[in-house]
Amino acid sequence: MNRAFRKRLQRLADSPPAISHATELQATVDTLYAQQYLRTLAILQTLTSDNASSVAKNLAEALRQASDQAQQTAARLYPQAIQPIQCRSGCSWCCYEQLQVHILDAVAVAASLSSPLDYRLETRDSHEIRRIFRPCPFLSEEQTCTVYKHRPLPCRAHHSVDAERCRQAVENQDPERQVPMHIRYYSFPGLPQEATLKVFEEMGIDHRPVVLGLAVAALTRDFEKITADWLSGGPAFEECIVLNC
Ligand code: SF4
Repeated sequence: MNRAFRKRLQRLADSPPAISHATELQATVDTLYAQQYLRTLAILQTLTSDNASSVAKNLAEALRQASDQAQQTAARLYPQAIQPIQCRSGCSWCCYEQLQVHILDAVAVAASLSSPLDYRLETRDSHEIRRIFRPCPFLSEEQTCTVYKHRPLPCRAHHSVDAERCRQAVENQDPERQVPMHIRYYSFPGLPQEATLKVFEEMGIDHRPVVLGLAVAALTRDFEKITADWLSGGPAFEECIVLNC
């Protein structure tokens, strides 16, 4: 062990950044979770017999804002992203997929549409869905997202540091769709969703994943009725639930 090595070791042992960073990280995770948990409860407390659709939209919007905030937090905590993110408008390899999302993602997309969505899928089996490489129902011919502002959490969190691997995943029909990304950037935006789903679970509100296209199609047929049934603990999304996940 040479002198320089010893000095470097001592410097690391003397400096607390790794520990304080871990502490800050845990505190940040706990705060993001707790804030969203309370926010979800507060919105649910406004639910009456005739305002389910607006409560559902408020829940979706609150979750979107919290996820965006969590993503900004990840960028602040991990500014040292080693490889640049290669995502850009018009690159759509990650959109050749039938998304499995949570119900509020479908609520946000459905609320932004002005006409019913006609969508069918031959399977709801999670593993089978991953083998379907046709374009998402919201991908335009110009390869852009038609619901970008309201896109689901997986799309918000998804990014790639190697667009070529994204292309290969689709062209080789790789159901694992392995794309290199910054894992913290991917996982942080999901924290608020975990908190919201925990509240739903405790309240007996369906929190199972759904097929995005199926759930949006159902919502656009009768948004009021479906959100009312869902928030009162009913099986409104039974026909959209992802199986075997
Ligand atoms: S919702 Fe938009 S971003 Fe997400 S997969 Fe579909 S087209 Fe792509």
